[in-house]
Amino acid sequence: MGIVSRKIRSSNLILLVSVFLIAVNNFKYFSGVIDAFHLSANLPFIISLAVWLFSILSLFLFAICNKYTIKPILITLLIISSFVNYFSSNFGIAIDDNMITNLAQTNLDESMDLVSLNMIYYFVIFGLLPSILVYKAKIIETTTKSSIFTSVKYLIIFLITFITITLLFSKSYTSLLREHRDLRFHINPMYWVYAVGKSINNEFNTTTKDFVEIGMDAKTMKSTSKRKVVVMVLGETVRADRFSLNGYGRNTNPLLAKEDVISFINMSSCGTDTAYSVPCMFSSLDQATYNHAEGKNMSNVLDIINRAGVKVIWLDNNSDSKGVADRIEYISYKSSDINSICDTECRDEGMVVDIEKYLHDNSAKDVLIILHEMGSHGPAYYKRYPERFNQFQPVCSTNQLNECSNEQINNAYDNTILYTDFIMSEVIKLLKKNKQDNNAMFYMSDHGESLGEKGLYLHGMPSFIAPREQTHVSSVLWFGDNFKEQININALEKISKSGQTHDSLFHTLLGLFNVETSLYDKDLDLIPYK
Ligand SMILES: [Zn+2]
Repeated sequence: MGIVSRKIRSSNLILLVSVFLIAVNNFKYFSGVIDAFHLSANLPFIISLAVWLFSILSLFLFAICNKYTIKPILITLLIISSFVNYFSSNFGIAIDDNMITNLAQTNLDESMDLVSLNMIYYFVIFGLLPSILVYKAKIIETTTKSSIFTSVKYLIIFLITFITITLLFSKSYTSLLREHRDLRFHINPMYWVYAVGKSINNEFNTTTKDFVEIGMDAKTMKSTSKRKVVVMVLGETVRADRFSLNGYGRNTNPLLAKEDVISFINMSSCGTDTAYSVPCMFSSLDQATYNHAEGKNMSNVLDIINRAGVKVIWLDNNSDSKGVADRIEYISYKSSDINSICDTECRDEGMVVDIEKYLHDNSAKDVLIILHEMGSHGPAYYKRYPERFNQFQPVCSTNQLNECSNEQINNAYDNTILYTDFIMSEVIKLLKKNKQDNNAMFYMSDHGESLGEKGLYLHGMPSFIAPREQTHVSSVLWFGDNFKEQININALEKISKSGQTHDSLFHTLLGLFNVETSLYDKDLDLIPYK
């Protein structure tokens, strides 16, 4: 007779699963606590913390589990916690409400990029196997009255334990909650459960809020008789410090170096993931006030420019526009039906080769084309560029970053930068041919990436604790000869070396098309006009 067929009281099953969840899924959390508190001097507190977390989780489980819900709840917690454990232990990733929104908007290709053998081990050992045991457990039938009595009894026991421990170690708990707030992101499963609740609430607020049209006063003021053509390359996961234009030791911008470009060396991103940063970049709200409920339910800069008479087209080789292009022309380049350059995956280059066609089709209008790149999206950096860009070697050719040295990871990442350098130079080449118009290319990445610094990988850390690598992004401007005549280049050079943020995008795009509106703030426009 194995444990599988033994009968068990529901209360004991809750206690067992609760101990298991706290014990196996909080490696990252406890290593952070030990770093912050020194194990030798604080051993009793750290042990109490394990009991404290166990009490909180058990309190929660006794409050919501009954004979119908107990198995689904425990199995869901076990399965999801095993994945959260994998990401926090291996990449230092915190699962907060933004990360959940980001995950919910991730497409199948991107999700497949994340699957690795190591992830499957975590899932099987910490998620699937215990879930099978829970599923097979024969729960001893009790009367409703007695099961309520048991639950209340345990609720009282855990409440008393929780309060006693908090009071006994009050100084340490105060310090933990006040001075080491960032550690809480790694409490598994409590933090992700809270984050799911928060993200559902955010989503509800976002989807039920009425749309507000802003910038109704916007109109374009023609500065020259030539039409304006701006190609905005919206980058993905590109760090500023990996551009040789910004001083990186490796020559990652061999093609842009030959062009007359301005690189903003000190640009900070609004968020640390695509789902947050992209709508924030195009919103009139600034980083401090941006939230999806307001920002996504309000005209963004593309809506305003489009309404002012400019033809705005969004080409997307990423997951999607995160709602930004919902009211303008949107074309997905994720499939070979549209994208003419697909090998192992459809390439960003496929969008570039079609620009000429869109310019020709809209020859009577000013045109703004957004190219939303796949860029340097990780962890499978090695997939993001065609073979001829495989210059820095050896590369990490798996998405299992823990199997690669940091050197291999960085080589693969730097090759993605070479490819982005190529994409931008191709856009410039094409605009140079389009001599008759006022041409500009504007590049901005949505967020950065951790590549092993401080043991962190990928991105998505909550903004206020995010390392600089995740928020310091690349941004580049290029002007054709006609456009350049209207710009004070010396002043622009100075601006490019000062601290700037994504808040500037809204105003810079309005300025590029001479859109007059009361929303325009000249001080936030990156470009000084003559
Ligand atoms: Zn992104």
